[in-house]
Amino acid sequence: CSVESRAQIHEIAHMVKAAGATILRGGAFKPRTSPYSFQGMGEPGLQLLREAADATGLLMVTEVVSPMEVPLVAQYADILQLGTRNMQNYSLLHAVGEAHKPVLLKRGMSSTIEELLMAAEYILSHGNYRVMVCERGIRTFETYTRNTLDINAVPALKQLTHLPVIVDPSHATGKRELVDAASRAAIAAGADGLIIEVHNHPERALSDGAQSLTGEQFAAMVKRLARVAEAVDRRLAVGEPVVA
Ligand code: PEP
Ligand code: MN
Repeated sequence: CSVESRAQIHEIAHMVKAAGATILRGGAFKPRTSPYSFQGMGEPGLQLLREAADATGLLMVTEVVSPMEVPLVAQYADILQLGTRNMQNYSLLHAVGEAHKPVLLKRGMSSTIEELLMAAEYILSHGNYRVMVCERGIRTFETYTRNTLDINAVPALKQLTHLPVIVDPSHATGKRELVDAASRAAIAAGADGLIIEVHNHPERALSDGAQSLTGEQFAAMVKRLARVAEAVDRRLAVGEPVVA
């Protein structure tokens, strides 16, 4: 979830790379619900992410929370992430629309599929065509899980747009023990990629430990996912280089 130290991000980058991940995602600027929660390391966190990505040959994606910081984050990141709380932050959509980096746009927690597509359209309309949309769970009456994974959104988005559709089962469930099944459902439903939170010591994580997998759990899950992909005539591009 967050970059916490050089040792932490390097260890996790090596774990996920060995398991077949292609992109490293970590937060340096964290939009937290409480102002008293860990807010991320800021620019030093971006530097550590870049180092860990380069050391492992992974691409790197990280969140940008303000239009002012787009140039700074774009200096370090291969892909700019817009978080659920900012999906309709129009000045931010405008700013990343003018950036020369691909964008991972997360669905607002209370936004419709149509609103997600219109937010993506803002980025495209400013000249940046490299946008991925991400289903990360929506708010419902259910409280057992952190959010409700809208699995319907995956085939719906695949029908409505040519943009790649990513699923985030970690934030969608909020529970490590549900991430595996939700990931399999996402792949079976047609997701083009997954973002999964992994931590070397989930019990000590400064954010989102309850939904973070251990490296071993992640590696085992990737193997199972490959079989699910095959069952639906798809293929998991594990460990393959991706071009940003
Ligand atoms: C994240 O992916 O780092 C994150 C904060 O997720 P979301 O914006 O979906 O809550
Ligand atoms: Mn998180």
